[in-house]
Amino acid sequence: MAMRIVSGIQPTGNLHLGNYLGAIRNWVRMQDEMPADGECLFFLADLHAITVHNDPAMLAANIREMAATIIACGIDPARAILFRQRHVPAHAELSWLLNGTARIGWLNRMTQFKEKSGKNREGASVGLFAYPVLQAADVLLYQATHVPVGDDQKQHLELARDIATKFNADTGTDLFTLPDPIIPPAAARIMSLRDGTAKMSKSDPSDASRIALTDDADTIAAKIRKAKSDADALPATAAELADRPEARNLVGIYAALAGVTPDQVLATHAGQGFGSFKPALADLAVETLSPIRDRLLTFRADPAELDRLLADGAARARTLAAPTLAAAYSALGL
Ligand code: ATP
Ligand code: MG
Repeated sequence: MAMRIVSGIQPTGNLHLGNYLGAIRNWVRMQDEMPADGECLFFLADLHAITVHNDPAMLAANIREMAATIIACGIDPARAILFRQRHVPAHAELSWLLNGTARIGWLNRMTQFKEKSGKNREGASVGLFAYPVLQAADVLLYQATHVPVGDDQKQHLELARDIATKFNADTGTDLFTLPDPIIPPAAARIMSLRDGTAKMSKSDPSDASRIALTDDADTIAAKIRKAKSDADALPATAAELADRPEARNLVGIYAALAGVTPDQVLATHAGQGFGSFKPALADLAVETLSPIRDRLLTFRADPAELDRLLADGAARARTLAAPTLAAAYSALGL
């Protein structure tokens, strides 16, 4: 069977270097490494986004911003199928059919629901509880062979496989393909520029803590210049950075941008202080991020083109989804 990867991401605004190096760049790599007979489907999980409170105007803006960012970062809508979940109603339809298969006991074991609902379990939306069933529909709909999963998503993919197995058994079919996990190659975890022990995040109140994908060259250079560091020179190995979180983060960012290991960065920069390492890091960051920013600004100026690309992706996704949805209805006697 040809390889087919399906992956979704929730639409958010204010995207930063951590989102690029830790998430979006993995998609670009999967796209670039996909054999010619395979297919990547990437979608904006806008139906998942409404399971928690959202401001409608903000959500609409974030969906466009996220789509523009993904394409700007290197997803090619001519190669990968990029679309909004909401534009392919088969996701919601199959999700409902699978609600007949999934067991309450299975969902009760999902640790992410426990974390997200916290102490207010009774006040959480039904959608938040059923979220993993929609995720199962997202991938089973396309007969995905592979699904990239971080640690926090392993349990949901296991659930999708359980749902597929039970559906096939209950209906006496072999309708659904059981997708295998792809564990992304040690995704970079980028820390705050103000605190090497805190994750770089869009919700950090300090703008100086993160490099936004919309920052211009001067802003990037200034943020790196002011980034928290220490007074020591860089050591020869990454192991020696264990107790220097800020230094470790800056070396880690350099390594992730250059596509090498921290040890390789140190092999060429050992002995340098931050007075000379920071400008080198700033140059590399600007070189990588400037073309992304330029493309992002182009899409912001031309939302109609962005909408056209998303509509085209959705049309291709609907075509791929149709036979599986029809077969699922028919397997259930509907
Ligand atoms: P929030 O602070 O609201 O949680 P965030 O900045 O963490 O926002 P998310 O929308 O939660 O961003 O994450 C989107 C994707 O980016 C996820 O796949 C997440 O793992 C990844 N990501 C987020 N922050 C980082 C980071 N600092 N380093 C690496 N990957 C990250
Ligand atoms: Mg987060």
